Amino acid sequence: MRGWCEVLELAIASGKGGVGKSTVASTIALVLKDKGEKIIAIDADADAPNLHLVLGVDKWSERKSYSDSKVAEIDPEKCIRCGECFKACPYSAIERTPDGGYRVIPLLCEGCLTCTLVCPVKGAIKRFTAESGEIRIAETEYGFPLISARLKPGRPNTGKLVTEQKEMAKGMASEDTVIVTDSAAGIGCQVIASLAGANLAVLVAEPTPASFSDLKRVHTLTRHFMQPSVLVINKFDLYPSYLEKIEEYAEEHGVEIIGRIPYDETVPKSMALMRPVIKEFPDSPASNALIEVAERVHEIVKDWKNWFAKHRPRKPEPYKPIIIKPNKIEKGGERER
Ligand code: SF4
Ligand code: SF4
Repeated sequence: MRGWCEVLELAIASGKGGVGKSTVASTIALVLKDKGEKIIAIDADADAPNLHLVLGVDKWSERKSYSDSKVAEIDPEKCIRCGECFKACPYSAIERTPDGGYRVIPLLCEGCLTCTLVCPVKGAIKRFTAESGEIRIAETEYGFPLISARLKPGRPNTGKLVTEQKEMAKGMASEDTVIVTDSAAGIGCQVIASLAGANLAVLVAEPTPASFSDLKRVHTLTRHFMQPSVLVINKFDLYPSYLEKIEEYAEEHGVEIIGRIPYDETVPKSMALMRPVIKEFPDSPASNALIEVAERVHEIVKDWKNWFAKHRPRKPEPYKPIIIKPNKIEKGGERER
C-alpha cells in the first residue's frame, strides 16, 4: 500500500461532450495498467456509452438489469374512458386505442403522476417500476475490467446509476486499485455522481468558446467538492486565441495543465477501428502527447499524498443552482433581468 488510501478514484470530466474525454480516460487506464497499476475503468455516460468501443469490447461477461424509474399503466377493466388523463398528461404519453380506450406509451411516460390525480376512478391507473437499463461488465483485452451502463431510450438518467457503478467498482477493487471514471458530458446528476468522492478530477477542454464555457462550469463543481483538478487541452492547435484564454484561466486558478494534444486524424481513425489510438498509431503526435498526459497522471498517483497536500483546494466554492422564481417571469413569458 502506498500510504494514501486503498483505492484512488480519478474522474475524467469536460462539461462539453465530444472534446476527447474518452480518449484521455482510455489512455490513462492503459498507460497506468502498463506501468503495473491495478485498474478498473467505468463508463459513466449511460445515455451514450462509448468507452467500450474505444477499448474494443464486443462481449460482456456480466449483465445486470437496472430499474429506478416508474411508469403509469391504465387498467382497461377499471377505466371508464373519460379521457381526463389523456387531456392532462404533460408529456403526451397517453394515446387512444382503436376500441376507444386509453393506454400509456411507456417510452414517453415520465412517471409524473398527473394522470392519477385527474382520474375519477380509484385504481384505474397504477404505477410500476420499469427497467431503465443495464450495467455491464467486461474484461478488456488490455487486462482490466470495464463497468459500463446503458439506459433504455426515453428512460430518465440519474446519478444513482453512476453511484451504483462506482459501488460495484469498489466491490471489485483490491488494495491500491485506481478507478478511472469517464464521466458524462454536462454538469448534471451523472457528472455530480462521477465527481462525488473522486480524489482527482482530470478536466478535458478544447480551445473553443463552448468548451471553455463548460470547462469553467465543471471546474466550479470540482471546487465545490473540494477536489484538486488538472487540465488537458485537446486539439490545442485548433484556435490559438481560445488556447490563450484557457491557459490564462488555468494559471489564475492554479490548475496544472498536464498536456496539450494536437489535432491529429489518427484519433478518429483509431476510433473507427475500435482500437485505442496509442495502440493503433503509437508514434502519432496525438499518441505521444496522450502518453505524456497519462505519465503525468501516474506521477501524481505515485506521489498522491504529497501532491494532494500541495494542491487540495483550501476552501469550498459554493455552487448555487439557478432557480427561476415564478414572480420573476413577466406576463409575456420573458424573464425579468
Ligand atoms: S405518469 Fe405522467 S407522464 Fe406518465 S402517463 Fe401519467 S401523466 Fe403522463
Ligand atoms: S382518467 Fe382514468 S378513467 Fe378516465 S380515461 Fe384515464 S384511466 Fe380511464
